[in-house]
Amino acid sequence: MQSSQLTKSQAMHQAQIAGLSTFKWHPCDKCGCTERRAYSGMMCVECDRQRTKKYREANKERCAKMVSNWQKNNREYLRMKRQAQLEKTEFRQKLNTICGEYGLTLLEVVTAWGSRTAVINFYHQSEAKFRIICSGVKELSK
Ligand SMILES: [Zn+2]
Repeated sequence: MQSSQLTKSQAMHQAQIAGLSTFKWHPCDKCGCTERRAYSGMMCVECDRQRTKKYREANKERCAKMVSNWQKNNREYLRMKRQAQLEKTEFRQKLNTICGEYGLTLLEVVTAWGSRTAVINFYHQSEAKFRIICSGVKELSK
């Protein structure tokens, strides 16, 4: 896929379809970074980082209060999110260990198991679980 053949919003749309939060684009005029946020505004990632950092530094108390309020109101969500991430990490570590032991790439290990479907299913399920958690939280907050 050549990004130069797409308009900026088309490139963003493609990234969104692929489930990505950023996409590659022409270098930023300010900093030369080639990564853009894949949502409205399509800001340069590096400039956005700097802007956020400045805002947080200028509004330290306000930001800290917002974060702690959000955490207080979303304890169950955070607990489930941590658990889902832990499961995903453990699975990835297991795969990486096997890769290391046999000097194989991830794809070779998965193929060697003959259960590529099982691995894909695992990822889909953990992704699905995460989505369920997210939508569950949304349901609760309605
Ligand atoms: Zn920039």
